[in-house]
Amino acid sequence: MARNQLRRAVIVAVGSELLTPDRLDTNSLYLTQRLNELGVHVRGKLVVGDDRADIAAALLAALPQADIVIVTGGLGPTDDDVTREAVAAAFAMPLEEDAEIVDAIRSRFAARGLSMPEINRRQALVPGGAVVLPNPNGTAPGLWIERPDVVCVVLPGPPREVHGMFDTVVRGRLAPAAGRQGIFRRVLRVTGRTESYVDETASPVYSRWRSAAVPIETSVLASLGQIELHLAARAETAEAAARALDAATDELATVLGRDLVSSDGAALEAVVGRLLCARGRRVALAESCTGGLIASRLTDVPGSSAYVHAGWVAYDNAAKTSHLGVDRQLIDVHGAVSEPVARALALGCRKLAATDYGLGVTGIAGPGGGSPEKPVGTVYVALAGPDERVRVRQLRLPGDRKRVKFQASQAALDLLRRALIRK
Ligand code: ATP
Repeated sequence: MARNQLRRAVIVAVGSELLTPDRLDTNSLYLTQRLNELGVHVRGKLVVGDDRADIAAALLAALPQADIVIVTGGLGPTDDDVTREAVAAAFAMPLEEDAEIVDAIRSRFAARGLSMPEINRRQALVPGGAVVLPNPNGTAPGLWIERPDVVCVVLPGPPREVHGMFDTVVRGRLAPAAGRQGIFRRVLRVTGRTESYVDETASPVYSRWRSAAVPIETSVLASLGQIELHLAARAETAEAAARALDAATDELATVLGRDLVSSDGAALEAVVGRLLCARGRRVALAESCTGGLIASRLTDVPGSSAYVHAGWVAYDNAAKTSHLGVDRQLIDVHGAVSEPVARALALGCRKLAATDYGLGVTGIAGPGGGSPEKPVGTVYVALAGPDERVRVRQLRLPGDRKRVKFQASQAALDLLRRALIRK
């Protein structure tokens, strides 16, 4: 494969579980990113069950459309793992047992003090003429089948094995024949603004980059509680792409100002964590409608014990008064979902935990509990800070219970982020 001819790929994901509501094909996401970096464009994806005829048909449909077809899944030792047979049939190659593979599998089992089950011999069947690709993370080796106008790479299903094999074996084999220009991506996250505002603000910048020496394509995508800008630079080296992406990101950061949460794909909770760490500040939480989600998100970040002190899920009114010192009268007069109660929750947890910041959240996540004055989705988030000021936001959040909870957690974390960058 000396010529530069690998430009278009099709990915075939094999696995009956991928056709159920329970499992999603994620291997193709990883493979797409890696192929893009090599300048290979993914033209299509197919998902098929563990059926020999279906796999062979998918392969035969994919071959004329692509320079490279990557098949993942169905290389296990059991009867329903039929990818090897289907590939051999599609290419009209006979299957032969490879003694070296049998030995390698036997040694893998022996290293764990086990003897190889007979069924694992199936994993040593190789279509005659195919190159065997070693699998550092599993028993099933991959296959590389080369034809004059197409390469077919067959990989196992487990994502860890796919990632390992692509990076250690497949990438190196494809690179000499892949495109000269790779696609390198970066994600910017923005909160507190609508998709149209972000697009209007960012488009004068990103449209100029579309025709730059290292061109960058941008898409603006709305996701729950945030807007994402996906930048894709086309360049000959990762370094050249990084330089262009850095410059474009700087320009976007200038126009987006404080609404820009991160330009390295970091999630809001990670950004808040970095800021708290850098400022040597700590936070406590008093959560009602979010039920501990803010604490959960913050503590998803490794190292968060440095700045998350404590959190209370004060769901019942009695818990708000007895544990967090919210005045019963405030609840009676204004209701549990109100600005004064959010304020009292923020102040209460900050005092109790003796932290720099206290975040309080109260709201109606639904589907019940709404009223004409306070419909489902009404949420108050409050932040008590070291300057003794309490900032409160009233929100009307759309969507079902889960969406309201997530957006409320997002608004609370963003309130803290903005307070931290104000300093
Ligand atoms: P083995 O049976 O030896 O584990 P295999 O090659 O037969 O390997 P599968 O049985 O198809 O692989 O899948 C093994 C695991 O990997 C399953 O949990 C499956 O859901 C997961 N998996 C398979 N294909 C994909 C995919 N395209 N995306 C994400 N996960 C996948």
